[in-house]
Amino acid sequence: MPIVNLKKILKKPEFQSVIESLLIALNTQINICDPEGNLIFGDPNLNFPKQFIIKTNYQIIGWLKGGEEALPLAKFLNYAVKQELDKKSLAEETLDKYTEINFLYDVSEKISRCLKVEEIVGVIINEVNQIIEATDITVMLLNPETQILEFFPSSFQDMIYQANRSAKIGIANYVLESGKAEIVNDVFKDSRYIQGSTRFRSLICAPLNINNRTIGVINISHHKPMKYSSEDLKLFTALTSQAAASIQTAQYYAQLKEYSQTLEQKVQERTLELEHTKKDLEKLNKELHILATVDQLTQLANRRQFDQSLQSEWKRMSRTNKPLSFILCDIDYFKKYNDHYGHPEGDRCLKQVAKVLQESVSRCGDLVARYGGEEFALILPNTSDWGALKIAQDIQAAVADLKIPHCVSQVSEYVTVSMGIATAGPEENLEAFIKKADIALYRAKEGGRDQYCFYENR
Ligand code: GH3
Ligand code: MG
Ligand code: MG
Repeated sequence: MPIVNLKKILKKPEFQSVIESLLIALNTQINICDPEGNLIFGDPNLNFPKQFIIKTNYQIIGWLKGGEEALPLAKFLNYAVKQELDKKSLAEETLDKYTEINFLYDVSEKISRCLKVEEIVGVIINEVNQIIEATDITVMLLNPETQILEFFPSSFQDMIYQANRSAKIGIANYVLESGKAEIVNDVFKDSRYIQGSTRFRSLICAPLNINNRTIGVINISHHKPMKYSSEDLKLFTALTSQAAASIQTAQYYAQLKEYSQTLEQKVQERTLELEHTKKDLEKLNKELHILATVDQLTQLANRRQFDQSLQSEWKRMSRTNKPLSFILCDIDYFKKYNDHYGHPEGDRCLKQVAKVLQESVSRCGDLVARYGGEEFALILPNTSDWGALKIAQDIQAAVADLKIPHCVSQVSEYVTVSMGIATAGPEENLEAFIKKADIALYRAKEGGRDQYCFYENR
């Protein structure tokens, strides 16, 4: 309650003039003293037979001394004092309201800046501590899946959870159901309180309401019996209604964040999977390409690859006007070799000859292919007849150097080859060109084998 000071009231000019007018009208004198009897108005030398009390509802604030006729003055002073008191009460109330509004505004501003539930809870704990006496503040949120109230995780709440689970849960669940805040100033006197815990004696429990739905509760509690008032409750619920909306927004935000993180992760996983698939496909493609273009026994280009290369080299020759040479190479008496040494030995021989042929060329456009059976073909772009002859000589020498025994050959004790060589000019056609090499090979065979023959018109 506000306190009024009689001395201050008497100093106010409006009261002074009324008192002076009354003194003149009543034709009397008075003294006014404070509650302790100290003179604050009048003449110390005067003595009066009577004294009138000046008081508010709660306290004596002075005495008026005078004769019987001074009674109206005493009544006036009592009236003036009450007026002052009312004025002061109103001012104090207004100030309280103003502070309260300021506080709520301040809190709501702080809460609205929070993006996480724990941040909002932090603000509430901080701010409530400043206005309502409490030893603990806890937040419990309704788990949408289990429909069970759970303490919002924090280390100190875990402690409370252990210490006083039942008392809080009992009342909290009740508040959750009713959606209305409650004051329990002594839990021992509350039937919902489950005996056995002494940590909390008093609590205010407020629901977190949004659109007629309660998403949780906030408790402020004290380990001693308290006298929480309806004012405390009002202020606290004003605060919790601010918090409820922000908590839900924060929950949505957290869900959204989690969802977008999972989505991002899924996209990453899928991208990785696709990359792996792409790599697998590329590998498979390479393998297929090799299978489609490489002869498995000799690892030289196969007939298919040969056909393609010859086509494109033929076209290139037509464009560039550069010579193109072609060597057909055939192992002599190879049927006999196979018959004598066996097919596996024949395969080994084919591989050795193939290796020699591959090593006989070095330019990047050159192509050595297995033409069929024990026949090989060499495509030599930008190579003149002279160049092709040189290569044929090298091949013949290199095959001889292999010294692969061939006891059933009619030309040598070792494996030998015969070669037909052709060099084309742009005026020819491809079939005729191949035929030329073929004829040359035939002539080499005819000429006794183990030799090369350059195609010439006869
Ligand atoms: P010529 O001197 O006239 O060339 O006689 P040749 O016996 O070498 O020729 P012919 O065309 O009569 O026989 C070729 C033989 O090559 C037939 C076959 O036994 C052998 N041959 C063909 N392909 C393969 C193969 O992949 N592996 C093995 N081991 N032998 C093959
Ligand atoms: Mg042959
Ligand atoms: Mg042969």
